[in-house]
Amino acid sequence: MLKTKNPQAARTQAQIMRALAGRSAIVTGSTSGIGLGIAQALAGQGANVVLNGFGPADQIETLRTEMSREHDVEVLYSGADMSRADKIAEMIDVASHAFGQVDILVNNAGIQHVSPIETFPPEKWDAVLAINLSAAFHATRAVFTGMKQRRWGRIVNVASAHGLIASPFKSAYVAAKHGIVGLTKVIALEGAEFGVTCNAVCPGYVWTPLVEKQIDDQAKAHNISRDEVVRNVLLAQQPNKRFATIEEMGALVSFLCGPAAQSITGTALPVDGGWTAH
Ligand code: NAD
Repeated sequence: MLKTKNPQAARTQAQIMRALAGRSAIVTGSTSGIGLGIAQALAGQGANVVLNGFGPADQIETLRTEMSREHDVEVLYSGADMSRADKIAEMIDVASHAFGQVDILVNNAGIQHVSPIETFPPEKWDAVLAINLSAAFHATRAVFTGMKQRRWGRIVNVASAHGLIASPFKSAYVAAKHGIVGLTKVIALEGAEFGVTCNAVCPGYVWTPLVEKQIDDQAKAHNISRDEVVRNVLLAQQPNKRFATIEEMGALVSFLCGPAAQSITGTALPVDGGWTAH
């Protein structure tokens, strides 16, 4: 750590040490959970950020202004629905005009539906595939030309341990997450010579509202209590027996977007306490 007694010099050093200063990022699904942790971490490294997702307007506005003030970066909000290609294109347009370019795209927005396959509602299948997989294709398609032209870009797809292995009752989610791991590899190959990297992160269980909701759904599917779901279903496969945090996810994505990770591309990185090591 550099030390100085001159406050002006200290500020300059702090700015230099922010690895993503001057970059601009879109993080889909960042009004809550993992996306919010990632947006905070990227802003903490100096990136301007577009927040996206749903929620009460006043809470999102507070989030936006506090993130901007805390990290001294610009933070915008787009309420674009990631199930709609036209809205995704609009969000990228707004970000490109506001910031001049999009350097970092984090495809994180996701939903879950838990049901045996015979009774899995087809409209839920369509929604899970649209938000968890197709949105990443549409968003990447819209930012890729600019990243290649500038010869710098970072795309991080938030997949899941379910991008690498399966569990019962999650047909759409597992299909979408396996799909996004494949998409990650294709984008990595197409971007490799242009300084554009693409990686997937594959969390096991992270403590977020999406997981909290699953506890109730799994309790119904297995006909057991919430405590039993946590102990015997959710963390049953996770050897370290702890939920990861959104701060850990933010730190990892921020690393993948930074200079030390420029040769890391096409990976699907498990963050699952050893789950997929079984
Ligand atoms: P979350 O429910 O806390 O947050 C999801 C975010 O996506 C919210 O901001 C929500 O508003 C937004 N969103 C949902 N539908 C949207 C839509 N149609 N358009 C735009 N935004 C939309 O969930 P989370 O747990 O933080 O999950 C984030 C990602 O991480 C998902 O892709 C999920 O599959 C993945 N993941 C989560 C876990 C976990 O344990 N929480 C584990 C593995 C992977």
